[in-house]
Amino acid sequence: NTFAEIDLGEALNQNIRRCKYVKPTPVQRHAIPISLAGRDLMACAQTGSGKTAAFCFPIISGIIRGQFSQRPPRVPRMAFPLALILSPTRELSSQIHEEARKFAYQTGVKVVVAYGGAPINQQLRELERGVDILVATPGRLVDLLERARVSLQMIKYLALDEADRMLDMGFEPQIRKIVQQMDMPPAGIRQTMLFSATFPKEIQRLASDFLSNYIFLTV
Ligand code: AMP
Repeated sequence: NTFAEIDLGEALNQNIRRCKYVKPTPVQRHAIPISLAGRDLMACAQTGSGKTAAFCFPIISGIIRGQFSQRPPRVPRMAFPLALILSPTRELSSQIHEEARKFAYQTGVKVVVAYGGAPINQQLRELERGVDILVATPGRLVDLLERARVSLQMIKYLALDEADRMLDMGFEPQIRKIVQQMDMPPAGIRQTMLFSATFPKEIQRLASDFLSNYIFLTV
């Protein structure tokens, strides 16, 4: 019933201690082992449930373990993240970015955020310095894909946060466009986690389109 008992690796565990997290929240206790086991996941989780750590820990742990030794192609000015976290708003994206950076502290795992409603140039410069985990809003990411500044062909982890809110905001076409690129060769196996507070038909349809053989978690 502590994080130390979950096999996340010493570097990440040290950062978890530094954040003063001792006991996993219910969504963390169930979602993290499922993700570490490599399964896709659809989870019911509200704000404040600790869902950010629930999707960040398996992603960071997996990247540190270096399970993905395949090198990205060399394309000038194109970033090849290993993980993508999609979230509906600039505020939520920057919160996730801040937390993920604490969890990834001194691990060598690079986290970059890209959201709309802010100048793109600073974000482009950050991306050029390298990125392992990209936190993005759907509209800005489509822009980056169209500018050929981000490629999703190396993505191993996809997390959709507050999926119901993203659909309410009309992001479904952008999300589908984004996921389509991850499903195209030479992109390989991807693990997907979908978090939503509600489960209307539209979210169930996204889950059946994006997840494979997934576990449905309500806490
Ligand atoms: P979230 O639902 O991801 O937005 O997290 C809500 C708040 O709880 C954030 O301030 C987190 O830093 C904090 N938090 C998440 N997990 C834990 C935990 N296991 N122990 C203590 N605080 C946590």
